[in-house]
Amino acid sequence: MRIVGAGLLLLAPKLVAAQMKPPCAQHARDCPAPPVVTPGPAPHDPVPAPADAVILFDGHDLTQWRNGEEGPAGWKVQAGYMEVVPGAGMIHTAQGFGDVQLHVEWMAPDPPHGSDQDRGNSGVFLMGRYEVQVLDSYGNVTYPDGQAAAVYGQYPPLVNASRKPGEWQTYDIVFRRPRFGTGGELLSPAVITVLHNGILVQDHVVLTGPTAHQRRPPYEAHPDRLPLGLQDHEHPVRYRNIWVRSLER
Ligand code: MG
Repeated sequence: MRIVGAGLLLLAPKLVAAQMKPPCAQHARDCPAPPVVTPGPAPHDPVPAPADAVILFDGHDLTQWRNGEEGPAGWKVQAGYMEVVPGAGMIHTAQGFGDVQLHVEWMAPDPPHGSDQDRGNSGVFLMGRYEVQVLDSYGNVTYPDGQAAAVYGQYPPLVNASRKPGEWQTYDIVFRRPRFGTGGELLSPAVITVLHNGILVQDHVVLTGPTAHQRRPPYEAHPDRLPLGLQDHEHPVRYRNIWVRSLER
């Protein structure tokens, strides 16, 4: 028993350390492209939420969402989904969240327009500052830390599990918020695990700080609960069936 225990202890730091820092310089185009893995078929119907989930969007209205001025969210709602209205700005939940399990379904515009970052770009912003990238990465090359399911500007996904534009895709995200001390010092960083279309793409990665374009800013102390945001990147990306389970105790 002792030997087994010691073996596990030796293994554990190695497993965790593998996910502790981004694998490439930010936005490096020579960062190895995640291999393509074709997921199972897209679900026709939204994935049913569990009983203890907070339903953030059930396809009917945006009452749980606000615009940047805390007014009504100005995205389009029709036929069971919401759609980014380019220029309407980012929207965020009225309610704040910390540690969560989050389910999001999204669809890139079909037919696709543009290429690289200019194709089906949006984003899921945990606590309004930690982005899991939404992008049409089906046959569309960009820098790996900016493709679909990347922790933007930090971690490429382990694989490219993208479905075609016009098909519903799922993100299942487990997010642990950073912890700050009473003096605002970082006690523990944010950690994210992501499944894209049911496939593991982020395995307990440790964020360097908030996500950003062309920089990796340091952590700044913030409240324990903050709204969840969805990005307007000027592309008519659709969302449906968004629910969250708080993992705070
Ligand atoms: Mg984005």
